[in-house]
Amino acid sequence: MPEIPDLTELLATLGLIGQVLFWVVGAYFVAFWFSLIVWTFRDVRARSRDIFTQALGTLLVVPPPPVNLAGLILYFILRPRETLSEAYERSLEEEVLLQGIEDVEVCPSCKELIERDYMVCPQCYTQLRKKCPDCGRLMELNWTVCPYCGSKTAIHRVPTTTPDGSLPEEHSERE
Ligand SMILES: [Zn+2]
Ligand SMILES: [Zn+2]
Repeated sequence: MPEIPDLTELLATLGLIGQVLFWVVGAYFVAFWFSLIVWTFRDVRARSRDIFTQALGTLLVVPPPPVNLAGLILYFILRPRETLSEAYERSLEEEVLLQGIEDVEVCPSCKELIERDYMVCPQCYTQLRKKCPDCGRLMELNWTVCPYCGSKTAIHRVPTTTPDGSLPEEHSERE
């Protein structure tokens, strides 16, 4: 005659499995809760140096689940958009961009972009700078002394092209 399983024993086994499951799921929830707090704390620290902001951001996810998920949503809405390193990189990029703008000027005659060390505008041949007759470095047209070698010059130049389109000849008189 087959043995009929004891109903109370079966129920006890099921109860034990249920208990184990309950503790496993419970432990996972606690670990998840704790990880969320750690993650938020790290994330807000990467985005702000302000202690108050850091504390407030972390406090949003401290309440027990599922309230902390609501806090997490709030945190995602309110957190600073950029991390500190992203903000730093952006400021570097902006600085490089600004430097680029400072390096560029326009031809006073044709308004084309020219570089700072151009002597003549490549578009309209306008004389932009003159060469020091002694050291050969570029000087502003109105300078009468070369700041690089100290040579005194009084250079008179026509700042436009000659009728045949060629570059004007250098007419320089030394003082
Ligand atoms: Zn020009
Ligand atoms: Zn010079």
